[in-house]
Order: sequence, then C-alpha cells, then structure tokens
Amino acid sequence: MLLKVKIMDVYKIIVMKKIILVLSLAFMALNASAWTRLGHAVVAKIAEDHLTPVAKAKLYEYLNGESIVRHASYADDFGVVNKDLKVDKTEFPEYLGSGGYPHVITVDENDELLDYWHELGGNARFFIERYMEELKHPETLKPEEIWWRIVYLTHVMGDFHCPVHIMWANLPLEQNCGLCKIYYRGEEKSWHYVWDRYMIEIPFPYSFSDIAWLIDTFTPEQIAEFTKGGICEWAKDSAIASKHVLDMKEGTRIEKGYLYYERRFVETQLCKGGYRLAKMFNEIFDPQD
Ligand SMILES: [Zn+2]
Repeated sequence: MLLKVKIMDVYKIIVMKKIILVLSLAFMALNASAWTRLGHAVVAKIAEDHLTPVAKAKLYEYLNGESIVRHASYADDFGVVNKDLKVDKTEFPEYLGSGGYPHVITVDENDELLDYWHELGGNARFFIERYMEELKHPETLKPEEIWWRIVYLTHVMGDFHCPVHIMWANLPLEQNCGLCKIYYRGEEKSWHYVWDRYMIEIPFPYSFSDIAWLIDTFTPEQIAEFTKGGICEWAKDSAIASKHVLDMKEGTRIEKGYLYYERRFVETQLCKGGYRLAKMFNEIFDPQD
C-alpha cells in the first residue's frame, strides 16, 4: 500500500514537472526578444526620425538627454526579470503575463484586439492605453515612471509588429506565437526563434541606423495610411499581415532563401512599428489641436 502511494506521488511529481517545463518553455519563447536588439533599435530609430521637433525634445528631456533607441530593448533586458525595474511589479498583476509586463498582444478569431488578459503572455493593450493616457499628464508621474512608460511603449510597439508576438485567443497555445518546431537548414529550431532572430540578423547584416536609412522609403501618403487610427487598428493590421507566418506547419523544412523571400514583409513591419510609435509620441507630447 505504502509503495503504491509512493509510486503515485512520484508519478504526480513527474507529470507536474512536465507541465511546468512546457509552460516555462512557452513562456521563454513569448518573452524572447522580438526582432532582437537590432530590430528594436531600427523601429526606435525610424520613430525618432518621424517625431516633430517638440515631441523629440520632450522625449530627450524625459530620458535624461538620451535617445529612445538606446533603451529600445530595456523591457527585454530587465522587464522580464524585474531586477532593475523602477516601478512596482505587483501593480495590476491581473494584466501582467506569467513573467512580467506583456510583450504580446491578444486578438480574437476576427483579428480584433481583445481587451482582456491572456493567461500566458498577457496582453500589452492594457499597458499601452494606460501609459499613453498617463504620459499626457506627466505632472502626475514621478520622473522614473515617465522614463519607464516611454521605454516600455518604445519596446512593445516593436514587439507586436513581429508576427510571433501576436496571440489568437481562440487557438491552442501550440498554434500561437510560432511555438512549433521547424527545421532551418536541417537544424531543429523553434519557429518563434527563427522570426525573433534570423529574420533580421541574416538578411540585414548592417547597423541599426543603416537599416533604418535603407528601409524607411515609404511615401508620406503611405505613412499616413499606415498610421490611420490607433492601437486597435494597428494591432488588427499586424495580426492580418502575420497570419501567413503563423500558418507554418510543425516539421516544415526551410532554407536560407525563405529569409530573403520574407524580407520585404519584415521591412514593412519594422517601418510600420516606427511610424506608429512616432505618431503615438507626437500625439502625446506635441498635440496639434
Ligand atoms: Zn519584447
């Protein structure tokens, strides 16, 4: 009898460990850096190049004379582990992902941005909308709170323009965020990892400012079209544009050519992230009406 109980306990421990391993692997994937440090710097640089002089001066003032580009990956570096975050990490725990501030957005089956929390990855919408409103009244915030809100918005606008940082609430976890395994040049890789890292580092072997200069070629009319509306429209556009990426089947084999085939899509997403971030900051720090 005692032996039977012990065997059951061991079995339970093994099952629990397996569940924890699957969840932590999924969580690690969700919090991996979209587009890497390089891509986030490109988005921030493009945004900075499209700020009004007033908005740009205010951002530099709030960031102690530093560019948003410098802090574009701060939310990846420290936000997840929360070791150096200067805000209370217990604030709004019901909207945080399992490991901290969300780096994904959650949409429904019609690609509409949801306003609720996704158990695993969170949903950045709550923080984007809240921080935008709060930054319009900087006198109500401490300097470090202003600083964090600016660097979080800078980061997460890059994140949700990366296809593997969008979650469809109606799909099972393994079909979301590129969590399937594929073979890249014969090596097994997470599809999420391929998009987070290879899609920018391999086809764009340049500095962040070189990439921004090379790809920021859209006309004012196209930029006006991309930046129409607000966070809900932008999230929906990103979700629709990203579907072809998330349709990847487990075990598919891809070669280097795939990265070049998707190059124009990657460029467009990076630019859209930058233009929309600029519009957000211009509206907050240099409202025209
Ligand atoms: Zn991130």
